[in-house]
Amino acid sequence: MRGEHDVTLRGPSRLAFQIAAWFCILLIFIKLSAWTQQERNVLKNIDLHIHTNASDGTLRASQVVAEAREAGLAVISITDHDTTAALAEAMEAARDKGIVLVPGVEISATHPIGEAHILGYWVNFQDPNLQAFLYSPLSTRTARIIEICKRMDALGFPVDPEEVFQEAAEAESVGRPHIARVMLRKGYARDMDDAFQRFLGDGKPAHVKRFKNTTADTIAMIHACGGISVIAHPGLIQDPQLIASLIQDGAMGIEVYCHDHDPEQAERFLRMAEAQGLLVTGGSDYHGEMLDKPFRLGDLKVPYECFLRLEEARKTPPVRKSLHAM
Ligand SMILES: [Zn+2]
Repeated sequence: MRGEHDVTLRGPSRLAFQIAAWFCILLIFIKLSAWTQQERNVLKNIDLHIHTNASDGTLRASQVVAEAREAGLAVISITDHDTTAALAEAMEAARDKGIVLVPGVEISATHPIGEAHILGYWVNFQDPNLQAFLYSPLSTRTARIIEICKRMDALGFPVDPEEVFQEAAEAESVGRPHIARVMLRKGYARDMDDAFQRFLGDGKPAHVKRFKNTTADTIAMIHACGGISVIAHPGLIQDPQLIASLIQDGAMGIEVYCHDHDPEQAERFLRMAEAQGLLVTGGSDYHGEMLDKPFRLGDLKVPYECFLRLEEARKTPPVRKSLHAM
């Protein structure tokens, strides 16, 4: 046998060969496990925008979590309007069912050029400042009812506020429909429509504007209690200038994947998020079974990646790019 065909390695070269071989095996293993993790993430669906009956949904928090489990969702967020009342129950139910629950809230806010809903993720919902902030629109509802009754009085159609509060005894919060019902009983209007057309509708003689927190204060409050602020369904915001000013006020993310957006809108907001260095989120805005929202939990596909990025941002806020790219 000729010497050059002898491939047996001896001494240091054999050791080097063994080290190289082990290194290759290790590399393949790392690559393979990263790949399977990615594959698994593709299969995981998430929903970061869900309501319960603590606001205007039809299901209790525990029922929502059970449905989410049925639908195979890996991560959900409960984001009720202006209240965190369902979060404690939701978190306990999520622990039981083995689902990740991101505590959230959806705050209605106002701006001189329009109104917007701002989502807050991982807000510290025990924070008394946040609770006072969320509670203020509700407490001013009472003041608003009294003010509307005063105006009705002045118009010669007296309505006792106490009667309105009794009418709303079962509801979470009192509003114009409760006054309208009292007005119907008194014969001041033919039906609800008539009551709104003649007295209670926007710009009518007994109309009083509802108090809402400003968009800038809302974003600042979410950040002050450790949360991540996200612009909810931007496709429903009429004025693009308002979206720009929310970003200027520090909104950290934008909801891209939702039932309110058609594919072109989703694509446009995705590009905007990339240009502005914004986080991308998505959620169904599920309210339970509702006629005007005929979809089920799990129907909407939101990339798991959105959750991972959101989680990262809890530790390191994203770098904001220039606003001029918009
Ligand atoms: Zn919503």
